[in-house]
This record gives sequence, structure tokens and C-alpha cells, in this order.
Amino acid sequence: MLTNRSQTVAKKEMTLVERLYLPAILHGMKITVSHFFKKKVTINYPEERREFAKVYRGQHVLKRDDKGAERCTACGLCAVACPAEAITMVASERKKGEENLYREEKYASVYEINMLRCIFCGLCEDACPKEAIFLTDRIVPSTFDRGSNIYGKDILVETMEKRIDISPRQTKEVLDFKTHKEYAHNKL
Ligand code: SF4
Ligand code: SF4
Repeated sequence: MLTNRSQTVAKKEMTLVERLYLPAILHGMKITVSHFFKKKVTINYPEERREFAKVYRGQHVLKRDDKGAERCTACGLCAVACPAEAITMVASERKKGEENLYREEKYASVYEINMLRCIFCGLCEDACPKEAIFLTDRIVPSTFDRGSNIYGKDILVETMEKRIDISPRQTKEVLDFKTHKEYAHNKL
């Protein structure tokens, strides 16, 4: 005997009430009927949809500045901050004449997020000193193959024709924090 928690199992005779089964059935029915009068917690999705929280964290966007240049400077802070190790990138040096494409002298020639690893925690957004990456209210669609869940720049970088609004994430607290130059994060 490894513990003192062992019990001897004995076959107990059922009482008359237990053998009738009816009280147990009625008790079960009572519980079922009581649920008819309770507030429904389910909805008829997809006909009905719940309202998302303003700060819902869905599919990422890599932002461009107002002139259309990519904001990301491939510093790698988002990848370091990511607890799921979902972000990979390749840094490249901006060439002469590419100033309109990339805002900084260094940029990410490859930037990928593995959506199967991502837990949508938002730490990449918090870590970014260039306001280049944000999570949005867009849902990442489900797929039947794993490969298409690696999102590259073709999906992540916004286009100037269809810019992604990230203003709901720029709360007063976030904007205030970014004015504090004493934090190393805000000096970059
Ligand atoms: S949201 Fe979190 S898990 Fe997803 S890429 Fe960003 S840091 Fe990684
Ligand atoms: S932290 Fe921002 S600037 Fe740095 S690599 Fe990530 S997205 Fe680009």
C-alpha cells in the first residue's frame, strides 16, 4: 500500500427509492426546466455576433508612415518580446533611392509571424519603439493547412490604398507613456 487513502469497495444494495429511478429522473428534469428561465449565454453565431472589445487583439498590421514608407526598422525587439517565438525577420540595409520605401536606414526585408504560434498577447506591439506593429480587430481566418499560417510582409504590411485604423489602440495612457523619454524604450 503506497498511501493511506485506499478504500475497500463494497457492492451496496440500492434502496427502494433508488430502485424506482423516478425521483432521480424528476430531479434531473427539474434542473433542465430551471435552465429554460435563465438568461441565455449562447448566441446563434454566425447570424448573431458579439460586439468586440475596443482593444480586441487580432491580426497584426505593419504600419507605414504618412508618406508610405515602412516604419519597421528590423530592430528585433518584437521578436525578443514574443513569448511564443512566433516572429522572425531578416534585416537589410536601405539603399540609396529607397528612402520613400523604408523610413529608417535598416528595414525588414523578411518579416514573418507564425499565426499558429501567436497567442495574441500584444507584447510585440508594446515592445515596438517605432509604432510599426499593432494588433487589430481583424480575425485570423482558420485554414486546413499549416503553411498558409505563416504571414509574411505581403499580408502584414498595410497598403496606402487600404490603411488600417489603429487609433482605438492609441489610448491616452499609451500616448502618455510614449512621451517619457527617461524610458530607454522611448529613446529609440
Ligand atoms: S501577439 Fe504575442 S505571441 Fe503574437 S506575435 Fe506578438 S508577442 Fe508574439
Ligand atoms: S519592434 Fe517594431 S521596429 Fe523593431 S522589428 Fe519589431 S516591428 Fe520592427
